[in-house]
Amino acid sequence: MANADARLGLFVFVDAFGWEILRQNTFMQDVLPFRCPLGTIFGYSSTCDPTILTGALPREHGHFSFYRYAPESSPFKHARLFSLLPASLTGRGRVRHHISKWYKRHLGYTGYFQLYNMPFDLLHHFEYTEKLDLYEPGGIIGGQPTIFDYLRERGIPFFHSDWRRGERENLAAAKAAVQHKELRFAYVYLAAMDAILHQHGPQSKEGQAHIRWYDGQLRQLLQAAQESHGDVRMHVFSDHGMTAVTRCSGLMAAVDRLGLRFGVDYAAVFDSTLARFWLLNDRARDLIPRLLAEVEDGHVVSDEELHRWGADFPDRSYGDLFYLLDPGVLLCPGHLGISPLAGMHGYAPEDRDSVAMYAASHAPESPPKRLEDLFGLMRAEADAT
Ligand SMILES: [Zn+2]
Repeated sequence: MANADARLGLFVFVDAFGWEILRQNTFMQDVLPFRCPLGTIFGYSSTCDPTILTGALPREHGHFSFYRYAPESSPFKHARLFSLLPASLTGRGRVRHHISKWYKRHLGYTGYFQLYNMPFDLLHHFEYTEKLDLYEPGGIIGGQPTIFDYLRERGIPFFHSDWRRGERENLAAAKAAVQHKELRFAYVYLAAMDAILHQHGPQSKEGQAHIRWYDGQLRQLLQAAQESHGDVRMHVFSDHGMTAVTRCSGLMAAVDRLGLRFGVDYAAVFDSTLARFWLLNDRARDLIPRLLAEVEDGHVVSDEELHRWGADFPDRSYGDLFYLLDPGVLLCPGHLGISPLAGMHGYAPEDRDSVAMYAASHAPESPPKRLEDLFGLMRAEADAT
């Protein structure tokens, strides 16, 4: 029996479900009639998630990309030993995955940890930023409390998914949790579509099929919640969209050809859509910007853009110089991946395909405009229950 007074705030995060993708698909229109685009944040999920959970911008919460140049404090001092193993072995995804798991355990990291494609002979120059579980107290680098800290502090009964688990498991756990009348707040984490859209592209039939599956699953979840709560407010949102990849950039090889010494003249991280440089001497300060002016794959991010995008880190710890690729261009190879993909995100936040989405069962008093507005919305929902 539904408790007529019981209100539940049901928040569902769907990774990479962009506004353009929502517009092109039929998804829960009757149950989630309120919908609007949601401005994203410059960076990847590693930047967006902390912003969603805290309402803070990257320059405040300190999360941006996984790798940061920090030769003094790198925990990977001995990683070069792995580079002595044959490349045929260490180049394999499965082997890197096992080495990642070993490092994670060895370093006591509780956050999302993956070495990706960072070469073993370069790892000792870097530190990894997402050391701790963002959902647990103290997980945010800048120390901001998350929505979960807010709920814990007030003793509001809540549920959140385990981001380490798959969607089916998380949906089953959420369905079981919402049946408890005492529950006031739920945060469901769904991340499989991101991988599907990376592999098959934003307009793929695989992506469309997955959206139909979400539609069915989330209706069941809503129904389960309504059986025990008289007033369920459902909010579905994403962190960013997905852009169809049109070509690869060979920037990493072009930088290599400059003949500069890594860790002496410069350091760089080649994320998927962004090359970040630390210019350690005048030779690098001369050659790298000159090369970037010639490459026609993107542009050097200006200080004004960094400020507008909330990524003007006071200590420039994520790099002195950012080169952002044009929408649809992918760094391959890069430090995050070697093979081309059909879809990618992490382009200019204003680009159409980068924009995230928000859809809700009830029109909010002040609709969220950007990712950082979701925190206030979740807090208001928690206060109202
Ligand atoms: Zn992704």
